[in-house]
Amino acid sequence: MRAAVLHGSYDLRVQDYAVTTPGTDEVLIQVHACAICGTDPKVIGSGWHLNLDYGHFIPGHEYSGQIIAMGPGVTRFAVGDRVAVESHKGCGKCANCIRGRYTICLNYGKPETGHRHYGFTTNGGYAQYVVNHTNTVYKIPDNISYDEAALVTTGGCAMNGIENVGGFMAGETVAVFGPGPIGLMAVGLVKALGAGKVYLVGTRESRLAIGRTMGADHTFNINEIVDPVAAIRQITGGLGVDLAIEASGAARAAAECVEVVRRGGRISFIGDPIEKPTINIKRFVLDDLKAAAVRGEGGMACARVLELCAIGAVNVKPLITHHFPLEQINDAFDTFINRKGGAMKVIVEPAAE
Ligand SMILES: [Zn+2]
Ligand SMILES: [Zn+2]
Repeated sequence: MRAAVLHGSYDLRVQDYAVTTPGTDEVLIQVHACAICGTDPKVIGSGWHLNLDYGHFIPGHEYSGQIIAMGPGVTRFAVGDRVAVESHKGCGKCANCIRGRYTICLNYGKPETGHRHYGFTTNGGYAQYVVNHTNTVYKIPDNISYDEAALVTTGGCAMNGIENVGGFMAGETVAVFGPGPIGLMAVGLVKALGAGKVYLVGTRESRLAIGRTMGADHTFNINEIVDPVAAIRQITGGLGVDLAIEASGAARAAAECVEVVRRGGRISFIGDPIEKPTINIKRFVLDDLKAAAVRGEGGMACARVLELCAIGAVNVKPLITHHFPLEQINDAFDTFINRKGGAMKVIVEPAAE
């Protein structure tokens, strides 16, 4: 097969590579769409915090495709199924996996225990074919395209963040900081779950505009307004919002999320922090706040995102801006990293001729 193999920092080469044979409970997927994630440049640039096998490792973790072969023991899938994947497969045996918290498996990065993190510690989807354990595979509804299906992990991260901070009730108000793909998915998802007013804070008008199409009632560009907390407090009659979602990774936004919720409000930290925030713990105590963070798309959140997409409650299409064949993957990364042409979700298509 053809695959994009990482040979060193930003040294991604499309080359021939042997197709892996699926083992027990594994399927071989022909990859139709693999979306570039904000984590990918960190993985291909610095190795993130992983011990990558340069010269052999294939990145890419947001993909969809068609099952073309199966290993022994597979019961829930058949050859020909159109599927999406999630990237984390826990060992299934450690205390966290037994509790269902497989994205924080205690055997992370130890493949001999059964742990897999596709596109991070295990080969991923920037290839014509990839092997996935069936725990990470979801059938996609007929009305969902491969492009849309490739975005379920982005949606799954946002959904996991919304669900794991004490649930979510219809009519609640929400502020989302950071209109990147995860923040925008969070906007679409809370609206699908019946949110009241949703406020979106960011720096790029083009992305805030997408947020409005996905359901944001008010957007705030912090290049134009000095204090988004004051603005949101004013528009909510001084109360603040029920739930703040930090999806930017910026220290300032993390601190503002703590200030923008109502007394008794909740904060969900989803963004991978790019700097250490200073947050107001005193407010947590005196105003009885709750916060939670999530790693990735756990809890089978991807399945629920697919359902919401299938019934039209969430539309991920506005996020998809570019397509490239696998052979042009370095152009795809250049477009994504430098946000050329308003790039948001850039999709690599290994199945394309
Ligand atoms: Zn991702
Ligand atoms: Zn585990």
